[in-house]
Amino acid sequence: MNVVYLDPVFPEMKKMLLDAKPQQAELKFAAEYEGEILDSILSEAEYLLMATEKVDRSLIEKLPRVKHIQKTGIGVDNIDLQEADKREITVSNTPGANATGVAELTILLILALYRKLIVLDKATKNGEWQMWEHRLSSYELSGKVHGFIGFGNIGQETAKLSKGFGTEIIYYDVLQASSEIEMEVDATYCQLDELLKKADIISLHVPLIPQTRHLLSEKEFDLMKSSAVLINVSRGGIVNEDELARALSVGKIAGAGIDVWEGEPPNANHPLFQFDQVIATPHIGAGTKDTLIRVLNMAFDNISSIEKG
Ligand code: NAD
Repeated sequence: MNVVYLDPVFPEMKKMLLDAKPQQAELKFAAEYEGEILDSILSEAEYLLMATEKVDRSLIEKLPRVKHIQKTGIGVDNIDLQEADKREITVSNTPGANATGVAELTILLILALYRKLIVLDKATKNGEWQMWEHRLSSYELSGKVHGFIGFGNIGQETAKLSKGFGTEIIYYDVLQASSEIEMEVDATYCQLDELLKKADIISLHVPLIPQTRHLLSEKEFDLMKSSAVLINVSRGGIVNEDELARALSVGKIAGAGIDVWEGEPPNANHPLFQFDQVIATPHIGAGTKDTLIRVLNMAFDNISSIEKG
């Protein structure tokens, strides 16, 4: 089994990949080569293992022997699926393996926005004692309505954590969830407009596909409560960032926690960076060692199963 890992690696990550791989797999790291040697390594690869690097047509053309592309994560929006399909290359991801990490980041961003954590950290370290300044705009999760847009693995995992804080769960999805999970977190299915009007907290957990591009734009921000906070841990293109900046600047909504961006990395002068009520993180939803171990094990299990036929 000739496996090439496409994304950049650092020593600890390389060791984790080598520890997780099946014995019979030969694993090469594309980032360690360039030019003709890289092309030759790609041309011999049977399996491509990748995370966030773009797998477009020009790259797929360099992979004549690849039979399977294995994403270490969920979103396959960075892979040219049509081109892979045309060449009979299968593609799979690691469903559920990163749900805990993204769910925990979602709750962290909500709590940090509700308790003005970043603002207060900066002020306190600057010698400003803002003990009272933010009390009337700080909140508890308990008793709030948490609206989920997308209720798959990550949405459901997040709902379990959120429920633990005493929120009411409502969700919108193209598919209604199982009655088991609806009962477990006492979730109510509703239409998108209704969710936008009712929710105090809105978190996004849908894939980026043509139907979800700019799913939240001016019209949707107009429907939200002025006290609402929005968490995007899904994909940047799902939120119209310019419209979100406008909504924040006129107080249509109260704040946002953004882990994913329309262009990654975003420019230093990104319109959302001007707001204290925006918390920005660099696409780290699944960025924990615990997640990585689960994801790599699942990815190599998939590759081994395909090899076994
Ligand atoms: P999932 O497939 O389990 O759930 C996605 C849900 O979205 C499904 O229930 C599906 O029915 C629903 N959906 C699809 N199209 C829809 C539409 N047009 N309108 C409403 N609902 C729709 O995936 P998941 O594991 O929960 O992951 C969700 C997304 O989170 C991924 O696609 C990925 O973009 C993102 N993600 C981000 C990070 C990060 O680091 N921030 C990490 C992992 C995943």
